Amino acid sequence: VIQVYSEYVYRNRQRFGVLFVHRDITKEFEVDQMKSEFVSTVSHELRTPLASVLGFTELMLNKTLRPERQTKYLNTIYQEAQRLTALINDFLDVQKMESGTQTYHKNYVDLVPILKQVVNVQQINAGKHTFDIITSSENLVVFGDEDKLIQLFNNLIHNAVKYSPDGGNVQIKVLAEHDKVYIAIKDEGIGIPEEAINKLFTKFYRVDNSDMRKIGGTGLGLSIVKEIVKSHQGEIKVDSEWKKGSTFTISLPLMTTHSVEQLDQEKEE
Ligand code: ADP
Repeated sequence: VIQVYSEYVYRNRQRFGVLFVHRDITKEFEVDQMKSEFVSTVSHELRTPLASVLGFTELMLNKTLRPERQTKYLNTIYQEAQRLTALINDFLDVQKMESGTQTYHKNYVDLVPILKQVVNVQQINAGKHTFDIITSSENLVVFGDEDKLIQLFNNLIHNAVKYSPDGGNVQIKVLAEHDKVYIAIKDEGIGIPEEAINKLFTKFYRVDNSDMRKIGGTGLGLSIVKEIVKSHQGEIKVDSEWKKGSTFTISLPLMTTHSVEQLDQEKEE
């Protein structure tokens, strides 16, 4: 998108020429467009769970229900309220990341148990998908913020489920190589068009096509992922084939026995 200003240039009150200023405002235009899309997405994303909470509470207040029904409705209300909380936490996280006030409490984190924990929770929520965890070793330690790493894996594994059909498999491969650990999360989902890949980590960005519009989201998850990876001196890359599936691979510095000892020593000093 090019913005053009033009102005006559005068010399001795005589029109001398025309000055054209061309400015490439593609970036500003795209950000503006994403912002307005974001406002409508957010209102929709907040309204949907709230509508369920209100609808089911109203039903419970106005009708005498069998206990099984009551439990079922209460479970829905609980899940939707959790969804709302997660959404609001995402907004707050993005805001903290932007103002540089996000804090990290780092310590030794054993990766395989937290990956198993994230998969267990996803398995309960996404009943129809299958999950595989493949690891080269059970003992892979990084120095990081456990809650933030859980959030990072949760966002990626949740996306793998969300953007793939029921019954799809999600494979999580953890591999140590030299001084790094690679965590690859692979799905059999809708995939990502090539031209979208380098925009994925921009906040508010969502792939815009008919497959996607049916799936809810705010476009914040991956911007949070990117920030957490960066704060752990890691890297993230995406391989994807449209309509075949995607693989998100993260690498993090691995704590070797040597580095753990060194850190212990530094802590004691
Ligand atoms: P959200 O899922 O809320 O839209 P994210 O920041 O997590 O936001 O993801 C940004 C966009 O990247 C998504 O809207 C989707 O278009 C695309 N995306 C992310 N993960 C996947 C995946 N595993 N498969 C296909 N598309 C994905």
